[in-house]
Amino acid sequence: MTTSPLGASGETSLGHTRNAPEDLSLVAGRDPLTACVHCGFCLEVCPTYQLSGDENNSPRGRLRLWREEAEGRLEPDPFTAAYTRECVGCLACEPACPANVPYGELLEQTRHQHVATGRTRVPFKLRVAAWLAARPAWFQTAMLPARLLRRFGILPHPLLFGGRPAIMQSTAQYADQLMRRHRPTGPRVALLTGCLMESLFREINFATVRVLIENNVQVLVPTGQGCCGAMQEHLGLEGVDQLRTRNRDAFLAAGVEAVVTNSSGCGLATGTALEGQLPVRDLLDFLGDLPLKRRVRPQNGARVYVDLPCHLVHGQRVAGIPPAVLDATGYAWELAPMARDCCGSGGVYNLQQPANAREILSRKSAFLNDAAGDPVILATSNHVCLMQWNSAGRTGLIQRPYQVRHVVQLLDPGD
Ligand code: SF4
Ligand code: SF4
Repeated sequence: MTTSPLGASGETSLGHTRNAPEDLSLVAGRDPLTACVHCGFCLEVCPTYQLSGDENNSPRGRLRLWREEAEGRLEPDPFTAAYTRECVGCLACEPACPANVPYGELLEQTRHQHVATGRTRVPFKLRVAAWLAARPAWFQTAMLPARLLRRFGILPHPLLFGGRPAIMQSTAQYADQLMRRHRPTGPRVALLTGCLMESLFREINFATVRVLIENNVQVLVPTGQGCCGAMQEHLGLEGVDQLRTRNRDAFLAAGVEAVVTNSSGCGLATGTALEGQLPVRDLLDFLGDLPLKRRVRPQNGARVYVDLPCHLVHGQRVAGIPPAVLDATGYAWELAPMARDCCGSGGVYNLQQPANAREILSRKSAFLNDAAGDPVILATSNHVCLMQWNSAGRTGLIQRPYQVRHVVQLLDPGD
């Protein structure tokens, strides 16, 4: 348990009257900041509160700090910025809230204000990564060595999981080739390829194309698309609106029924960009509406444990991964214990707050040490969650062999 410099409920600041600081003036006038009724229902779902037992490290506590600063009752305080940085951004507090406090939106605005006013510094290497991610051609080139290393099975970082990405052929080229060969006639969708997914984990995009086309879906990959802006949003950096506009333009011009995304964090960000204009569907949720081809596998003891990404169930408010989709993998499967709880990845949270992220993962991943199955497969549907789960083995949290796979790879005719 950590000791809060502001006391158990932040009360040392109460009654302290000042003018609202200029950087928070936008937040000060917003009703959402005052919507919290202090019921505390959000506390039990919050991983940072569970970890610390510190009220300031909970949704209710952070909202109170932000509101007190906005109303001028608390001077801009380094501890407010620190507690804001401690938030994983998992959004588990939103569906738990009876007052419908738009916590994620408030968090996003506060992060941007803290970075813009210098209260939070973004490490140089993360600024560079975000700058590159916003420029797809540059990012593809910068990640070429990492793509090559994965291709040849060299995984120098705990977050890098195994796979064989194409080195030069893009997902757009691959989809075009398969579309010409198979000529599907069903629903026409556009695929968001993503920045990190396309640069580093491209084999998952290829598997996505194969599964969609095998199930008679027409797949377009608009080449004008780019990064969804989730990384910039997590870091509190500028440029999110421009990235959303670029993707909005690219997808609206594609003449499709929906955009399909295979990473839940990117899906949430793209859904915001296209809200009210074009449906954005999580890939597995979309596949759940189709009469899926089912894989036939020998029942040889393999067992899949399914984890549900926060940005799927809390952010996009999708009920989960449809059981019919999981059945279609042909594997014996079950939901992982604590499947709806955060794994600690939080976009780039595991790079910014590695100790917290590891602690959150440690509680959630411990079951794998004794899980039945040979092989044991941990499957989910967000690349940053796959990276985080992979790190559990590489950093000694899990002492037995296991695989991490995107669920679409388990449906893949090439699997
Ligand atoms: S987003 Fe997650 S970590 Fe942040 S306050 Fe809400 S539940 Fe806690
Ligand atoms: S659940 Fe909502 S209303 Fe209740 S304390 Fe948390 S943020 Fe406030």
